Amino acid sequence: MTSTRLSVTDDAEASGADADQRVPALALAVLLVVGGGMGLLNLALDGVVRDGAMRWTYGLTMAALVLAAVPLVVRRRVDRWSTFGLVLLGEVIYAVVALCIEDPVRYATPMMLLFVVLTAAWFLDGWMFVLSMALVPVSCLVAMAGSYPDRLALAVQVVVHAGMLDVVATGVFLLRRRVQRLLAATEELSQRDPLTGLANRRHLVEQAPRLWRLARREGLRVAAFVIDLDHFKQVNDVHGHAAGDAVLQTVARTLAETVRPSDVLARLGGEELVVLGLVADRGEAGRLAERLRHAVSTARTGHGHVVTASIGVAHTRPVDGEDAAATLWWLVDRADAAMYEAKQGGRDRVATADPPQPRPRSVPREETLGPPTVPGPALPGVTPSDAG
Ligand code: GH3
Ligand code: MG
Ligand code: MG
Repeated sequence: MTSTRLSVTDDAEASGADADQRVPALALAVLLVVGGGMGLLNLALDGVVRDGAMRWTYGLTMAALVLAAVPLVVRRRVDRWSTFGLVLLGEVIYAVVALCIEDPVRYATPMMLLFVVLTAAWFLDGWMFVLSMALVPVSCLVAMAGSYPDRLALAVQVVVHAGMLDVVATGVFLLRRRVQRLLAATEELSQRDPLTGLANRRHLVEQAPRLWRLARREGLRVAAFVIDLDHFKQVNDVHGHAAGDAVLQTVARTLAETVRPSDVLARLGGEELVVLGLVADRGEAGRLAERLRHAVSTARTGHGHVVTASIGVAHTRPVDGEDAAATLWWLVDRADAAMYEAKQGGRDRVATADPPQPRPRSVPREETLGPPTVPGPALPGVTPSDAG
């Protein structure tokens, strides 16, 4: 049995992740350049930046801010360590700026830290976020120490400003965590069948390009197994729909334990399930189908109900340039036809589809989520690719 795993790096997913990284990286870079550039403008104004060494320190700090944008622009990605580094840099820079300014209460208010704490709230987690927040009062204390000779007044100002910044950042952090959890749950729900917990039709379609690429890379075939429970209506009619649901759940659980880790198991609808997986040849597809059939027939619900299944198998050798999602339905169609042969042959058995007819090379994208269409006679630009 081929042990094919889907852990191979997926090009499409990787490029999606790249796009996700690019936007925050470039946004951070722009903010650093704008912040540093505006800071440098202060050097042109009389009486804002202190004279002497402080002027140099201030100028170099602003230049460092602009330079920090360079790796972000070059790498076009920002990981949590570099974000953490930028947040700490922001807190240090605020303190340095305040020390270099003639009148920090006027020209370097703690509100300058707002961007820094919001960055931490949006991009950091766990101890990195907590440490970033803990350093806010320290940064405020250093920045405001020279402006409030009275210790009590200084303490009040630090508590008010740092407290406000930390509360806002923590609120944004909690909101972001909630949004992330909701998004993850919604995405999960949109790809799962609520009764069985199996993948649904959408997930199956989404997985097709990945399986097709993997099959091409490893020189394997993609096999579809259409599994239809036998006389399932009778289970409902005799024992009730709740018993029918329990059977579906039990069968789903059993099949999930039987398929290989790389296979995709989905509920197409009703009592019809599909397994999509990679096989070396017809023999391997047949053996896997037989295992699935046996697993269903030996599964038993808590109330002792048992069913059998008829399974249709079809496989194909992916060719370059074909639309995986479209070919998926063509393959499922063939497996479905084989499944009906298994029904006619007496049920509780496996039937394998004949070698395929020519199939469409590509189908417009919007058609690919719909139900399968029966392949017509040979179309122009169509090649038989996988006989045998
Ligand atoms: P065959 O062996 O020819 O496949 O017979 P069958 O009775 O399994 O096929 P038929 O298409 O006549 O019936 C399918 C039944 O599946 C009818 C429908 O009530 C039942 N069904 C579909 N979805 C569900 C579900 O989510 N829960 C329950 N309990 N029953 C369902
Ligand atoms: Mg049925
Ligand atoms: Mg059916």
